[in-house]
Amino acid sequence: MEIAIMKAVLEENDDRAREIEGLLKEKKVLLLNLISSPGSGKTTLLEKTLEHLKDKYSIAVIEGDIATARDAERLEKYQIPLVVINTDGACHLNSMSIKNALDKFNLDNLDLIFVENVGNLVCPSEFDIGESAKIAILSTAEGDDKPEKYPLLFRESELMILNKIDLIPYTNFNKKSFYKDLEKINKDLPVIETSCTKNEGLTSWFEWIGQRIKDGGKS
Ligand code: MG
Ligand code: ZN
Repeated sequence: MEIAIMKAVLEENDDRAREIEGLLKEKKVLLLNLISSPGSGKTTLLEKTLEHLKDKYSIAVIEGDIATARDAERLEKYQIPLVVINTDGACHLNSMSIKNALDKFNLDNLDLIFVENVGNLVCPSEFDIGESAKIAILSTAEGDDKPEKYPLLFRESELMILNKIDLIPYTNFNKKSFYKDLEKINKDLPVIETSCTKNEGLTSWFEWIGQRIKDGGKS
């Protein structure tokens, strides 16, 4: 019984995700689904990214949060189109809520939409939202064992950001075993090492975004 319900939920989610995918292709908008645990630095990475790219591209953000608008409040200063989805306890965003959020934007004028998914390494990777790419973000403080423990996210993502690289000396994060594990799960996954507080690696991230927009965006 429960399995049947779960299957129906996922099917409805996938149907709507296919619609979103079609819409984004038609409008040539890149939608990046940022997935990580709480505290990996997603919002800070978004702040750095908006600071750097908001004059170059037309950007909107969808903030997924269980109960608050605290992350969104941090982004208000950039004066970009911003929608908050409060999931009311749910630990992921679904494609139905993303579709509703997209209806509030003028897609003809946008190049890029960031979705800050709810902080959770498990079901945000199971719920397709029609995104152009999933991006896994992991901070070194969380440990090097995460790819092995949550393989789906690392298998599904098209890019991984290893954040807070400056904290490695204060943690037991072992880069060698991290990369060894990751290679077993998804050997083609590019990794960008960043530190948002020390402004390291961010240029590579901006270039990755620029390339994706060049490949499929408005010209
Ligand atoms: Mg956040
Ligand atoms: Zn969930």
